[in-house]
Formats: sequence, C-alpha cells, structure tokens
Amino acid sequence: MEEAGIRPVSKFGQNFLIDLNLVNMIADSANLTEQDVALEVGTGTGSLTGLIAQKAGRVITVEIDQNLWQLAQEELAGFNNITFLQQDALRNKNNLNPILIDTIRQAMSEIEGARLKLVANLPYNIATPLISNLLTLDEFVPTSMTVTIQKELAERIVARPGTKDFGALSLWIQAQCNPEIVRIMSPKVFWPRPKVDSAIINIETDTAKRNRIPDLAYYHRFVRSLFIHRRKLLRGVLVSVFKNELSKQDIDTVLEGINLTGSIRAEQLAVPVIFELCERFRVLQKTKEEEAKV
Ligand code: SAM
Repeated sequence: MEEAGIRPVSKFGQNFLIDLNLVNMIADSANLTEQDVALEVGTGTGSLTGLIAQKAGRVITVEIDQNLWQLAQEELAGFNNITFLQQDALRNKNNLNPILIDTIRQAMSEIEGARLKLVANLPYNIATPLISNLLTLDEFVPTSMTVTIQKELAERIVARPGTKDFGALSLWIQAQCNPEIVRIMSPKVFWPRPKVDSAIINIETDTAKRNRIPDLAYYHRFVRSLFIHRRKLLRGVLVSVFKNELSKQDIDTVLEGINLTGSIRAEQLAVPVIFELCERFRVLQKTKEEEAKV
C-alpha cells in the first residue's frame, strides 16, 4: 500500500488481516471446490482473494474503494477466474447491490451444480445487513458463509435463548443455518488495529431447516418486530405489532394455542417455539385476508 501511495480509510472499515495463518484459516474453513462460486466482500489488497481463487471455480470480489480495487487487480493479474467489481456491496440496508446479484447469477450459470459461498474478512459496518440479506435471496442462497466479523456480532449470531445476546439476528440465522464460531482474534492480527475483538464464524445453510419456512419475508419481518422492544412482555409486543390487523382476542387465542400465557418475553423462547408462533400468525392473517375478500 505504501508503494502505491495508499493509506487505510477508516470509514470503509479498512482493517487488513496481516496474520497469514489466519488468512489461510478463513480460506480453509470455507472448504472450497471447483464447483463453488466464492463471493468476497471487501477485496482489500487481495491477500484472501488469491487464496480462494486457487480453490474455487470462480471468485467474485467486491471493493468499494477504487484505489484498492485497482491495486488488487494488479496483484492478482495471473488469475483468470476472478471478477473484480468496484461497487458498494449493498444498495441499501435491506438490499444487495443489483449489479452484484447479476454478476453472481452469471457466474452460477457457468458452473454446473454451482454453489455460492461467502468468504470474506468483512467491513464491520455492513456485516449484519450483508449476511441477513444474502439469506433472503431465494434464487441462490449461499451454502455457507465463512467470515471475519466483530466478536460481539458473532456472539449474537450463535446466542442461545434466554441470554442477553439472543435476538432477531440469532433467530433469523439459526432458523435456516447452523452457525459456529471458528476462532476469536485479537486486534493485533489486523493493521491498523481495530478497537474490538473479532471472530471467524462459519455459517452453514441447512436446507431442510430453510425449507420449513413457508414465507421467508414474513418470518424475517416477524422476528425483527418481536425484538424492537425486547424488555416488553410478549403479549404486549404482539398487540402492538398487529394493532391494525388482529384483535387482542385473536392474539390471546394464538398464544393459548401453544401454551404461551403469563409474563413471558420473546427472548426466553426457543427457536422452534418462535417459529411455531410466527407460523400461526401467518396462517391466521392469511385466513382473515381470504375471508375479507369473500
Ligand atoms: N480482504 C481484505 C483483508 O482480508 O485484509 C480487506 C478486509 S477490510 C476488513 C474490508 C474491506 O471492505 C476494505 O477493503 C473496504 O474498503 C471494503 N469495503 C468497505 N465497505 C464496503 C462496501 N460497502 N462494499 C464493498 N467493499 C467495502
């Protein structure tokens, strides 16, 4: 970077992984094969990109910073299976960049039985929307996401019910994936050093689990709304979530149907219970909508 006259830009989360054993560990943990399209968000200087390009069939790497985008292409000129995009990976908080989606679609169509895998040392400010939004893609959900993220975020993703970290993100990811923390990393393995600890996390998508969710968008909205006021009792939360659509009587009937009465909070419920609750509300709302049409 010094040779190229480039300095790290903190607003882009530019903390480069300088421990090459750990860069290798990320690439190895992703279990890449020739059948895989590896997506990397945050090319940086391309050190991880080069490793994953040796293992994956295709690599799509996205970098927001034009200087780094150029530098990485020069560093990795010997590879012919890498697509370098100079883009913001996100269009906004709720959507991926459509150019990125088109590029993934194209690469997937070129490999028979292609699988998409996210492998990245993510910029921390976009890690949550990126991981969450990739799981909303019906067309090609990643089979795994092996990423470096802030340690606190990794703890929220793997959190168990009843703990302070358990919330909408834990529910969204655990309902369709099996997440596991691979390694905790101290700030000193990065340059410049971030203020927080980091973790490598491996999130494997579980197709059987995912197929049990009939309406992913409904489930996503439901779990997010449950945790907006996490200290409120579950019944009160549901009354406000459905205030224009369902009566208090409707809500009590659903809660009684799965024995959820009394002073219980959403954070105390196990993933399958929340899933069942969501499903009952979804079916009830659908029935009401159909009745209203008749
Ligand atoms: N892969 C490199 C490594 O392992 O050292 C760099 C990782 S660094 C934590 C994150 C990279 O993501 C930076 O190069 C940064 O410029 C880039 N970045 C930040 N926000 C981005 C965004 N919205 N879309 C794409 N790249 C982004």
